[in-house]
Amino acid sequence: MFLAVSAQAQFTFAFDYSYDTNNFFTGSNSGRQTYLESAGTYISNIFSQTSLNAITPTPGAAQPNTWDATFTNPGDGSAQAITNPTYAANVYTIYAGGRALGGSTLGQGGAGGFSASGYGDWFSDIRYRGNGTFNTGWGGSLTFDTATSWYFDSDINTVEAMGSAFDFFSVAIHEIIHVMGFGTTDSWTNLVDNGDPGEFNGTYATALFGSNPTLSSGNGHWAENTQSTVYGSETTQEAAMDPNIAANERKYITALDIAGLRDIGYSAVPEPSTVALIFGISALSLVVIRRRFLLSR
Ligand SMILES: [Zn+2]
Repeated sequence: MFLAVSAQAQFTFAFDYSYDTNNFFTGSNSGRQTYLESAGTYISNIFSQTSLNAITPTPGAAQPNTWDATFTNPGDGSAQAITNPTYAANVYTIYAGGRALGGSTLGQGGAGGFSASGYGDWFSDIRYRGNGTFNTGWGGSLTFDTATSWYFDSDINTVEAMGSAFDFFSVAIHEIIHVMGFGTTDSWTNLVDNGDPGEFNGTYATALFGSNPTLSSGNGHWAENTQSTVYGSETTQEAAMDPNIAANERKYITALDIAGLRDIGYSAVPEPSTVALIFGISALSLVVIRRRFLLSR
């Protein structure tokens, strides 16, 4: 028998570690999967009003719908393709792993691409998943640097001293939000004006910020040091989706990050407290760069 689905549509993230050839999340490090999954839950709970249709290829049909999902292989950085995967409704699939990213890069996250052949609404089914012209996509891939000293937090509601380590939770939510399309899909780039670095002209973000938020080079992030408030609180914090993070720093998702995601098409739960609500594929790989500490400013 079928059980009735939850009245509140909600998407979740299905993390797939089959390309984690350097064992960032597997082997003796398999306990780390819990931390990535809790970062995913933190994000999906905020967007519980956004639903995603299933992607169901029909390669044996008289009019076959077929496709390849394409993404950056997290284990080696190569272009990876999977032929005719089926993805369930309300699920984003994310291929996760680690490798040495070099330089000051902590992580990379990008929306997956696709190539497809078929009939009827097949292309729209893959791109938009029942959301009009909002390019939700199917998911993508995440890569974490294997040479970084990471802090894994078993309770993300409290912030402890991390020493010289970098906060895995903060970087994970940043990269997951890229997979969701922030800075990585045409639903985002359609709202970018004035060159590179340009400005973001989405209605929600602009109303909240007071003007079009300035973007950083590449137009995939808010400008460095963009300030907002932690979502659901009045606490001032640098946005999660600026380009960098320091060691020993926790960044939660902020109201401005959520406004940007609403502008590209997501429906978020209403913010619990505060004021008059602000109403509120080309696959790029984007990076988090370690901030250099300034001795005086
Ligand atoms: Zn980024």
